[in-house]
Amino acid sequence: MIGLYRAFLASRVARRVFALFVASALVPLGLMALLSMTYVRDTLIEQGQQRLAGNAKAYGTAVFGRLLDAADRIQHEGAWGAAPTGEGYSPQLFRSITFVPTSVRSIRLPGRASDIVLTGEEHASLDLGRPLLRLEASSDTDPAMALIVPLGPSESRRWAVAEIKGDYLWGDRTWWPLGVEFCVADETSRLPIYCPGVWPRDAVRRSAGEATRWAAESIAWNDAGTPMRSALWPQLLKAEFGAGDWLVVATQPEADLLKPAAAFRSMFVPAAAFALLVVIWLSLRLIRSTLAPLESLTQATRRVIAHDFDSRVETTRDDEFGELARAFNSMTGRIGQQFKTLNTMAEIDRAILSSRDVEHVVPTVLRHMCALIPANAVGVMLLDHDNRLLARASVVRPARPDDVTTVRGAITGDDYRKLRSATAGEWITAASQYPKLVKTVLAGDVGAAYAYPILWRETLCGVVAFGFAEAIPFTTEEQTQVQEAAARLGVAISSAWRDAQLYKQAHYDALTGLPNRLLLVDRLSQEIARCQRESTRCALLFIDLDHFKRVNDTQGHSSGDAVLVETARRLAQCVRAADTIARLGGDEFTITFTQLSNAGEVHRGVKEVLAALSQPFDIDGQQTYLGASIGIAVFPEDGKTAADLLKSADTAMYRAKASGRGQAMFFEERMNHEVRERVLLERELHAALDNDEFTLCYQPQMDLRTGRIVGAEALLRWRHPTRGLVSPSRFVPVAEESGLIEHIGRWVIRDVCRQSRAFQARGIALERLSANVSVRQLYKPDFAQHVQASMREFDIVPASLELEVTESLIADRVVEVRGALDELKALGVSIALDDFGTGFASLAYLMEFPVDVVKIDRTFVSGLPAGEHSLAIITAMIAMSHALGKKVVAEGVETDIQLTLLRNLGCDYVQGHLLSKPIPAEEFEQFMLVAGHRREVRATDDPMPSVLQPAADAGNVLRPFGRDIPDRRKWHRG
Ligand code: C2E
Ligand code: MG
Ligand code: MG
Repeated sequence: MIGLYRAFLASRVARRVFALFVASALVPLGLMALLSMTYVRDTLIEQGQQRLAGNAKAYGTAVFGRLLDAADRIQHEGAWGAAPTGEGYSPQLFRSITFVPTSVRSIRLPGRASDIVLTGEEHASLDLGRPLLRLEASSDTDPAMALIVPLGPSESRRWAVAEIKGDYLWGDRTWWPLGVEFCVADETSRLPIYCPGVWPRDAVRRSAGEATRWAAESIAWNDAGTPMRSALWPQLLKAEFGAGDWLVVATQPEADLLKPAAAFRSMFVPAAAFALLVVIWLSLRLIRSTLAPLESLTQATRRVIAHDFDSRVETTRDDEFGELARAFNSMTGRIGQQFKTLNTMAEIDRAILSSRDVEHVVPTVLRHMCALIPANAVGVMLLDHDNRLLARASVVRPARPDDVTTVRGAITGDDYRKLRSATAGEWITAASQYPKLVKTVLAGDVGAAYAYPILWRETLCGVVAFGFAEAIPFTTEEQTQVQEAAARLGVAISSAWRDAQLYKQAHYDALTGLPNRLLLVDRLSQEIARCQRESTRCALLFIDLDHFKRVNDTQGHSSGDAVLVETARRLAQCVRAADTIARLGGDEFTITFTQLSNAGEVHRGVKEVLAALSQPFDIDGQQTYLGASIGIAVFPEDGKTAADLLKSADTAMYRAKASGRGQAMFFEERMNHEVRERVLLERELHAALDNDEFTLCYQPQMDLRTGRIVGAEALLRWRHPTRGLVSPSRFVPVAEESGLIEHIGRWVIRDVCRQSRAFQARGIALERLSANVSVRQLYKPDFAQHVQASMREFDIVPASLELEVTESLIADRVVEVRGALDELKALGVSIALDDFGTGFASLAYLMEFPVDVVKIDRTFVSGLPAGEHSLAIITAMIAMSHALGKKVVAEGVETDIQLTLLRNLGCDYVQGHLLSKPIPAEEFEQFMLVAGHRREVRATDDPMPSVLQPAADAGNVLRPFGRDIPDRRKWHRG
C-alpha cells in the first residue's frame, strides 16, 4: 500500500487528480444507485400491489364461485331427490342442511344457539326463487353462514337451509400465493368475517372505498412497525344472494414485495465496485503517465534552484512532455552557463572590490576568466597610469592557474591610438599588427587570440586576450562575456588609477611632486617607530626660503612656482635615497634624515642644503639670491612624535630667521620657552590696550644744514604692570602676528596727532612728527581714512605728519602697499622708508613707492667711520636718494664723527642718541626748550659740529630720563 502510495500518489497534484477521478466516478455511481433503487422499489411495490389486487380479486371471485357452486349443488341435488333431511348433501361443503317450509319466519341452524329471523324483504326474494345468504354472527364461534335456497316450484316450494363449511368457502390456505394473507370483511360494518392471519384493521379502516368492480384499492399501512401492503376488493353478493357485499383484503408485508430488489442490490454493488476499481486503475495509470514526467520536472527544477545545473530530465517520450523535457534541459544548460558567468563575474567584482592593488587583482581576475571561457590562455595588458605608453602584460593558463607570467614593455603611439579607437575585439595571430605585449599570449598551443580593448569612459586602460589553438568565431554570448569581463577590468583599473591619483593628490604636492605634510607625518612617524626599535636617531630639517614672498609679489606666482620647483630639485640632490623631502606648503620644506649614526651627518646635510639654496635662482633670466633659514630637530631629544619634532624644527627655523636668515639652528629647549613667552605676551597685549598701558616716546631729528630740531619720531613704549617698560622690538612683532597691531597702530596715529597739536599749543615748532606704521596696518582698506580722521580731529596739517614704513617688509605685498601709500600720499602726509638697507635697498622701490624720506638703518651708521663698506653704502644710498629727489635721515647717530661724516656726505637729517634717546613728551618739551634756546647756534659752520657740545649738555639734562632699548630683532618671516 505504501509502495503504491509512493509510486503513484506521492505528489500533491497526483493525490488531487486521483481524488477527482474517484469522485467523478463515485458521484454518478451513487446517483445511479439511488435512482435505480428508488425506481426498482417503486416498480416492485407497484407490481406487488397489482399482484395483491389481482389476488384479492381472484380470491373474492373464487369465494363467490364457491357460494354459487354451493347454491347450485343444493338446488341440483334437491331436484335430484336427495334426502330431504339433508343427508347426502355434499358433506364436504356443508356442515348441515335442513329443509323448512316457506312459511317459517325464523330458522335455527343445527348446533347453533340463535335463530335466523328473516326480514320481509328476504322473504320476498326467496319467494322469487333466489337463494339467500345470511350471516349470523356469534360471539364465541365463527359466524354461521347460512345459505337458504328455495327448492321446487312455487306451489311445493321449500327452503333448503344449509350452513356452509368455512373450510370449503374460504378455500385451502395452502393454495394461497406465498406470503399473501386473505381476509374477508363486511363492507358495511367493516368487521371481519373471515381472517385467519393478521387482521389488517388499519387498511380496512383507511380504505376510501375506491375499489370498483374493475380495480382493487391499494393501501400501505403499518403493523406494529412492519410496513405492510394490502389490496381491497369488493365482492358483490346482493344480486345473487340478497346479502350485504363483502370486502376481500389481500395483505402481504412490504418486504416480501421488495424481495427482488435485494437481488438487484446484490448485483449492483459488485458492479459498482468493479466500475470504481476500473476508474481507480485508469486514473492511476493516467497519473503515472502524466504526473511522473511532471514530478521529474519538478525535481529537476528543485535541483536547479539548488544550483545543480548538470542534472537532466529524461527526454524519451515523444509527446508534449518529451518536448517540455528537452526544452527544460536546454534551458537548464543555458541558465547553468549564465549562472557560471554571473558567478565568475561576481568573483571578479569581489576580487576588484576587495583589493585596490591592480597587481593583486589582475592574477585573480585572469584565473576567473579562465573559468569563464575555455581558452588555452588568458592574457591582459595594462597601461601605466602615469605613462600610457608603458604597460605590463600578464598571462595565465587554465592548466596552471597560479602561474602568472608578467612582462613589462612599451607600446607605440600608433598602437595606443588604434586601440583607443577600437570598438570591438579582433582575432590576432603572430603576424597581426598588434602590440607585442598583447601577443605574449600567443605561445605554446595558442595560435590565435581574441583581443578586446579595455576601455573605461573612453579611456584606454589595456587589452584582454583569450588565446586558442586557432581562430574560432565567438558566439554572441561569448562575446558578451568578453565584453563584460573587459568592462569589469576597466572599472578595476580606472578605480585603481583614481585611487592612485587621489592618494597622490592627498599625499603629494602637486607643484613639486614631493610628499606633503600628511605623508611627511606618516613617514616621520614610521621613522620614529623604527628609531625607537633600533635605538637610533633621525633629524628633521625645517627649511624656509628667505625673501620668497618678494619673488612671488614682484615677479609673479609662476616665477614663485619655478623657484619652488627648483628648490625641490636642489634639495633632492642633497639627500640620500632613504631620506624624505616634503613640501609643507608655501616656501616651507622639510627633510627627514634617517638612520643617523653621528651628528656630523646632519651638519654635512645642512651645509649642503644651505649651500644649494644660497646659489642664485634664475628667475626670468635674472639671477636672484634667496637663501634659506633652517631649523633642525633631532629625535628623540627634541620631540618624541612627528608633531613634536615638526614643532621643534619650526621653532628653530623661526629662530634662525630671526637671527638674520640664511642660517641653520638646532632646536634648543630655550626656544620653547621663547614660544611660550610669546603666547603669554600676546595674551597680555590684549589687556594692555584696554588698560591704557601704551605710551609714546619721542626722538628728535635734526636738520644737518641748519642744526635745528625739525622733527621727532614717535616710538611706542609699553608700561607693563609687572615687567616694567617693554621694548617695541619684543612686542611689536607679536602684535603684528596676532593682528593686534592694527588697533595699537590706530591708537599711535591718533596719539601722535594729539601730541602734535599739544606741541603746537605749547609753542614747540616742529616741521613734522613721524609715526611708525606696520605693513599690516597698510593692508587695512580704511587706514587712510583713519589717518585723515585723526588729523582732522586734532586739526593737524597733513604735511606735519610723517609715516614710517619698514623697507624690508613692504617687499612682501608690493601691490597692496603701493596702493595704500598712494592713498596716504594723496592725503598730503609724507612717507619715510624706514630701516633702508636692511631689505633690498632696491632702487626699484625708491622709484616705485611715493617715498619722501629715506631712513638709513642704524647698522650702516654704526659702521662709521671705520667700516669701509658702511661709508660706501651710505654714500651710495644718499646719492641714490637725492638723485630721486628724496630726503635722507640717518638713524642711530651716536658720535660726533658719525654726524660730521654724514653731514659731509650730504645727509639731510640725523636721529640718534647723540641728540637724544627717545623720551616722553614732557621731557621732549624740555629738550626742545633747551634746543630752542640754542637755535641760533650754527652747527654747519664748525668742522667739528658745535652742536655737539650743547647737545651733549642737553643730553646731560635729558639722559636721566632717556631709556633706550637694545636693537630690535627681526622676527618677521619670509
Ligand atoms: P625704528 O623705527 O627704526 O626706530 C628706531 C629705533 O632705533 C628705536 O628703537 C630707537 O630707540 C633706536 N635708536 C635711535 N637712535 C639710536 C642710537 O643712537 N643708538 C641706538 N642703539 N639705538 C637708537 P625702539 O624705540 O626700540 O624701536 C624699535 C622699533 O620698533 C622701531 O624701529 C620700529 O620699527 C618699531 N616701533 C617703535 N614704535 C612703533 C610704533 O609705534 N609702531 C610700529 N609699528 N612700530 C614701532
Ligand atoms: Mg622708525
Ligand atoms: Mg629705523
